[in-house]
Amino acid sequence: MSEIAPDFDYLVIGHGIGGLSVAWHLEKAGKTFHIVGSSSAPSSSRVAAGILNPLTGRKLVKTWLADDLFPYAKKFYTELEDRLDAHFFYPLSVYRPYRSVEEQNNYIAQSADEAIAGYIGGGEKQDRIASYINMEFGGLEVIGAGWVDLPLLLDKSKAHFTQTNRYIEATFDFHHLNLSGSVVEWNGNRYGRIILCQGFAAVSDPVFDWLPFAPVKGQLLEIETEQEMEPCVVNQGIFILPVVKNKAKVGATYSWDKLDWAVTHEATAELEEKLKMLLKIPYKITAETAGIRPSVKDRRPLIGTHPVRQNVCIFNGLGTKGVTLAPFFANQFIEHLENNKELNPLVNIQRYFSLYFH
Ligand SMILES: Cc1cc2nc3c(=O)[nH]c(=O)nc-3n(C[C@H](O)[C@H](O)[C@H](O)COP(=O)(O)OP(=O)(O)OC[C@H]3O[C@@H](n4cnc5c(N)ncnc54)[C@H](O)[C@@H]3O)c2cc1C
Repeated sequence: MSEIAPDFDYLVIGHGIGGLSVAWHLEKAGKTFHIVGSSSAPSSSRVAAGILNPLTGRKLVKTWLADDLFPYAKKFYTELEDRLDAHFFYPLSVYRPYRSVEEQNNYIAQSADEAIAGYIGGGEKQDRIASYINMEFGGLEVIGAGWVDLPLLLDKSKAHFTQTNRYIEATFDFHHLNLSGSVVEWNGNRYGRIILCQGFAAVSDPVFDWLPFAPVKGQLLEIETEQEMEPCVVNQGIFILPVVKNKAKVGATYSWDKLDWAVTHEATAELEEKLKMLLKIPYKITAETAGIRPSVKDRRPLIGTHPVRQNVCIFNGLGTKGVTLAPFFANQFIEHLENNKELNPLVNIQRYFSLYFH
């Protein structure tokens, strides 16, 4: 094995929320790197609504590790706003209209649970929201949520890394990668490690295709209303996220069959059916978008080092919650690689090594 020194510490592939979070933590750690992105290739982060929500699902389940992930994500996005001189992080509440008196009673009983009590608000905006949302039985306010304007963040981050000569616009091809020595060689440069942050594209990646990805397609609508909406997410089966006063994103669908990036009439019809039950005011659809979430069978990220190739790493499997998961675990992963700190075993791909050696 050659003992040649690398020209750069890291090569990061993919500039979605995963690659972006890794790259910013590398910058913070004072590492040298290139990040490779392809503007023409699809990206789930460009489609996502960007919501962070600590209590989700019909059963009001607290997001896994919420008490660690949320403070870290908020700090990360706020600091990045300063660094990039842009506003893309919006803390806000989520209002959950009750479907019935029974649901109201259940949610109120659940709210007393110490673990989630800190995420329940007083519902001050309920009357104003009820002017455009069906809230016959009232609703629960979840605080500590927010959303990130991902397209803006991605554009600003790409501009920063381009200006500092670290962003390379290219479609990465494994055939052009040389892994035979102690360093990773690509495009005439030698790197200490490569971190693959390719989102859904990883399913056909020859190095990590043995990992149990379970991708999920999703679609969103963008709507415009005449009446202004409150700066709060409304969530009941679907979410309505006002991005400006009279424009909102509405989503999302979940489908597992045809995994492509195309918008479908069926998904639009499904979203509209739910929207009409929730929204009392007229709206018009201004755009429809679809993407593929890089989800995993056990619903935990896929992060770590290849079982055999010690300089080949992956940061993926962010599923439905990339905005919440990516900052915290990018920090943990870089600390793991650089300072030997523990990587949470529930995200470490070591849990699937038996699939590789099978
Ligand atoms: C409809 C919908 C709504 C969603 N809403 C939310 C939400 O509200 N909140 C939330 O947290 N999450 C949401 N998600 C999930 C979120 O999109 C993902 O968790 C997240 O975007 C995954 O980020 P990623 O960086 O791993 O993947 P991606 O964003 O897909 O990024 C991977 C990048 O790698 C690039 N790439 C891949 N291969 C190559 C190559 N060979 N060369 C160069 N570049 C390459 C891709 O082009 C892409 O830019 C939603 C997803 C969908 C589909």
